Amino acid sequence: MEKIKVKNPVVELDGDEMARVLWGWIRETLILPYLDIDLKYFDYHILNRDATENRIVTEAAEAIKKYRVGAKCAAINPDQTRVKEFGLKKAWKSPNSATRNQIGGTLFRQPIVFKNVPRLVPGWTKPIVVARHAFGDLYGGADFTMPRGGKVFLKYIPHDGINPVEVEICDIPGAGAALGIYNTEESVRGFALSCMNFGLERGYPVYLGTKNTELEHYDGLFKNIFQDVYDTQFRKRFEERGIGYEHRMVDELAAFAIRSSGGFVWACKNYDGDIQSDMVAAGFGSLGLMASMLLTPDGKTVLTEAAHGTVTRHFREHQAGRETSTNPVASIFAWSRAVYYRGLFDATPEVQAFATTLEKACIDTVEAGQMTKDLATLTGTSWLTTRQFLAKIKESLDQKLSTKG
Ligand code: NAP
Ligand code: MG
Repeated sequence: MEKIKVKNPVVELDGDEMARVLWGWIRETLILPYLDIDLKYFDYHILNRDATENRIVTEAAEAIKKYRVGAKCAAINPDQTRVKEFGLKKAWKSPNSATRNQIGGTLFRQPIVFKNVPRLVPGWTKPIVVARHAFGDLYGGADFTMPRGGKVFLKYIPHDGINPVEVEICDIPGAGAALGIYNTEESVRGFALSCMNFGLERGYPVYLGTKNTELEHYDGLFKNIFQDVYDTQFRKRFEERGIGYEHRMVDELAAFAIRSSGGFVWACKNYDGDIQSDMVAAGFGSLGLMASMLLTPDGKTVLTEAAHGTVTRHFREHQAGRETSTNPVASIFAWSRAVYYRGLFDATPEVQAFATTLEKACIDTVEAGQMTKDLATLTGTSWLTTRQFLAKIKESLDQKLSTKG
């Protein structure tokens, strides 16, 4: 079979432990035999990050900005135990947040749904994509303790000094605590753009949840900017796709989400997103089925990854020479989504079609009852080792490609 030509490069970020083993197997068996692709390889192996004093992370992020598509393997976020284990110079900053911060954009967490894998929330037959605004709110706030009664004010002094504002927050008789948080129009607008671009590409409606009845100005900023971005730039294209955008009260949206069958983007403020992404992940079942994607506001740069870590416990088994049954699906989707977006940006539908076929091969394999242990435990069936499972996916992929061609 002739390989499919991929016009522009994809930046590959290799990682650690079991995730690295899966990553390599996927590259060698499901990607390179089918695609004529230029992979710009950067190694996030913990020892390479240590040797380059983390420069590799900066260089990789620069390459992603240049080529606009990256796929990332899970990598160790070193703590003191890891510093000892690998004899590192220091506990280098997390490569995940460092890479994301350099590229910017919004992180979308998307569950991969199989008909035969039961979900904690059985009604969720389609993915709920949680988009977390990873800026400001509680994470960029200031808080303090008030040891005794007193007043707290919120004070704004514009750089030009014109029209400063001071409001009293409270006057309390005894001890307590207080908090101040902020956000910026620029960041919220970028968040809105990322969410709309993502929804449009996937054909999912977008819902934003806020409490603007309580926080007229703060949550109002989110509500108004989302509405403006939608009305001025997306409404027409959304309507053509038969989808829409809506603002809802965040508590009503949470209840709606539980009762829904999924199939939408849930735009969350930072703290809501922290909670909802873990809750939704739990509701969908296995960590091995959660894919993640970073998309910039202009919709023109993506970084894909699996949401799980390096699966250390399985790696110890692998190191001891034993076969493991680690779920490679989220890692395969990190590859396939990157290839899909590469095809989209290059206007090469045959490349996009390959990505979609690979994803379909994963889904059909699992739905035909072939799966790894984490899923077999949920379905009460027998399981395959990682390599047996990958071989089944390859069989299904080959069969689909040969009937197509
Ligand atoms: P983890 O690697 O996600 O694994 C936790 C447990 O979840 C595993 O032991 C396994 O459970 C299950 N699991 C996760 N992925 C699975 C898969 N694909 N197939 C089957 N089971 C899977 O989290 P961790 O052990 O907390 O973290 C390990 C390392 O990963 C840490 O060094 C951390 O810094 C790093 N990490 C990196 C990223 C990233 O790069 N994005 C994200 C999170 C963590 P059982 O043991 O019960 O089988
Ligand atoms: Mg969290």
